[in-house]
Amino acid sequence: MTVTDDAQSVPTGSLTPGVGQASLRDQNLSVVTMLAYAAPEPVSRAAIAAGSGLTRSTVSRLVDELLAGGLLEELAPLIAGRGRPATPLVPARGTIAGLGLEVSPSYLGARLVDLSGAVLAERVVPAHLEASDPDIVLDRVADLAGEILASSDGRWTVLAGARLAVPGLVDSDGRVLRTPNLGWREVMPAERLQLPAPPAGEAPAAVGVGNEADLAALAHALEAPGRPAGSGTFFYVSADIGVGGTSIVDGVPVRGRHGWAGEVGHTLVDPAGPPCTCGAAGCLEQYAGRDAFLSAAGLGLDATAEDLVTAAAVPGPARDAVDRAGRALGTALANVVNLLDVDDLVLGGQFIPLLPALRPALEEELSSRVLAAPWLDVTIRPGLSGEPALTGAALAVLGEVVAAPSRWLPGA
Ligand SMILES: [Zn+2]
Repeated sequence: MTVTDDAQSVPTGSLTPGVGQASLRDQNLSVVTMLAYAAPEPVSRAAIAAGSGLTRSTVSRLVDELLAGGLLEELAPLIAGRGRPATPLVPARGTIAGLGLEVSPSYLGARLVDLSGAVLAERVVPAHLEASDPDIVLDRVADLAGEILASSDGRWTVLAGARLAVPGLVDSDGRVLRTPNLGWREVMPAERLQLPAPPAGEAPAAVGVGNEADLAALAHALEAPGRPAGSGTFFYVSADIGVGGTSIVDGVPVRGRHGWAGEVGHTLVDPAGPPCTCGAAGCLEQYAGRDAFLSAAGLGLDATAEDLVTAAAVPGPARDAVDRAGRALGTALANVVNLLDVDDLVLGGQFIPLLPALRPALEEELSSRVLAAPWLDVTIRPGLSGEPALTGAALAVLGEVVAAPSRWLPGA
């Protein structure tokens, strides 16, 4: 292990003259925390001072506060060469936790993650939730959250909050406007999702709501809370019964004016195509969503993507269905590349096992439809398996802690 001396540079707006003392301290805490969390290796106080432009003594004082507050942790000092030994700093383990929750048409899930990115507890329960009653489903989610928190008792100290992933449109107040595949309309989950009561005197953990694809994409953009993964610029598409998508640029989801961007599943493939759950016709989801896929392949709706891969190994309806889905997906993604100039496409959910079978048609459509194709090397890669929206939801909560740590320190 090494202690890096090249902490990445972050904006130091904290140095702006005229900022009040309290907010100056808050901003400096935020800068120090973000530098320590973003570093790919454990980082020293000296490296944070160099990366932030703050003095060594200021950084030491702020780091002490973050150590006391359970946001940072010290590893054993490293003695290398002459001079004082460097004490490596890392995100704290087993202190502040974030809870990811998800309602998908085919399962309910909960995953508790700490500031180091470690999963403390998780549970995913298969379910059939198409055209479901939101009150009943949200009560089940609340029970699941309670189970996860109780089963992990002693492995964390503070619950920073929870985020619920849903496959549909969510407004800035956390209202689920529409989820075609759950059949929900204008639902306010936070009113229904009561997390277990905290000790007397503490405020209950806040429950936020986000779009499933946005949160799943966040799990691909971050290796751990506050730590970017790869280039951080890609388009993520996931498929279950529905098909969702999100554009991530420099690690940040690009959600559009109202937070509703990326609905690639409801972009047009064929105006004369089959009717869609959204009320339109010929949407990508009707070619590449799970039910559409399996029906066209002549398989039962309980068949898995792996069953489809096996069936498509020989000529017949399953291979035709995969080819049709690959062409539809390639057409939609060519539009995405033409609109966004993105060269990294990440395919998640049921597309992961199907990617080798889909790839020939996908690449053919991209090379014939993308204007810049001769000069653009578009990568198509499989996403993370294992319900990434649950991880992303927890990371979204913890990302807010990293960005504004002062709220979580003693005496805040
Ligand atoms: Zn549609």
